Amino acid sequence: MTDSPPRVLLITGASRGIGAACALRAAQAGWDVGVNFHRDEASAEQVAAQVRALGRRACALRADVAREGEIEAMFQRLDAELGPLGGLVNNAGIVDVAARVDEMSAARIARLFNVNVVGAFVCAREAVRRMSTRHGGRGGVIVNLSSAAARLGSPGIYVDYAASKAAIDNLTLGLAREVADEGIRVNGVRPGIIATDIHAASGMLQRAQAAVDAIPMKRLGTADEVAQAVAFLLSDAAGYMTGATLDVTGGR
Ligand code: NAD
Repeated sequence: MTDSPPRVLLITGASRGIGAACALRAAQAGWDVGVNFHRDEASAEQVAAQVRALGRRACALRADVAREGEIEAMFQRLDAELGPLGGLVNNAGIVDVAARVDEMSAARIARLFNVNVVGAFVCAREAVRRMSTRHGGRGGVIVNLSSAAARLGSPGIYVDYAASKAAIDNLTLGLAREVADEGIRVNGVRPGIIATDIHAASGMLQRAQAAVDAIPMKRLGTADEVAQAVAFLLSDAAGYMTGATLDVTGGR
């Protein structure tokens, strides 16, 4: 019988919104948490303090997930501060201002893909190098934040973002199968419209009524409702699930 995976989890972009909610749900489920942030250190330290108040260990870790060297340094610091990794939530993500494809610069599209896609790939790579039984690890679990946009395409608003999340869905599927016999499960969550700061740029919540009308449950979701789905996928209750992405969309 091999040891079970370590209960140390890294969540990217965890200083607010869905990532912060995931940190609290994970702490309640017994995970120690590395709280990655990009710029807002004070908020990340607050989330880390909330995790500690729940009786778990936590540390705030600065890294821009668009920069490979910063990601590598972040994983090394996590190893040093909390010990061997057992889980990753690829949550950091960005949306740009609403635009049509024929208005988008290559720089905008590249920046968005660097954060949302390349960042998630490189974080997954670092996690697999630590958790895979092939590399001497004790296994683990990865959850990727996709979006309902991956299936809707988001025409006229952010086709670039929707395409980046479709790439995440395929990362989930392909990586899950690649490491399925190495002790690692990989799953995803596709949130619908969740009331967080991410919508400040796109103006989505300014069109809130139209957005709500399009949701069968006639309300926006909360960050905690997404975090509960993530916590399920992290848990042994999802022990035979890999390569799956759950819709948390109010039926949208
Ligand atoms: P948010 O803007 O509140 O949080 C995003 C987090 O990512 C922030 O903490 C931000 O600092 C961090 N981040 C951004 N760029 C980063 C970088 N380069 N390096 C490190 N961290 C970075 O948004 P949210 O709604 O909590 O979004 C979390 C995830 O859920 C994202 O991947 C998003 O695409 C996805 N999602 C959100 C919604 C929604 O409606 N809110 C819907 C579908 C999917």
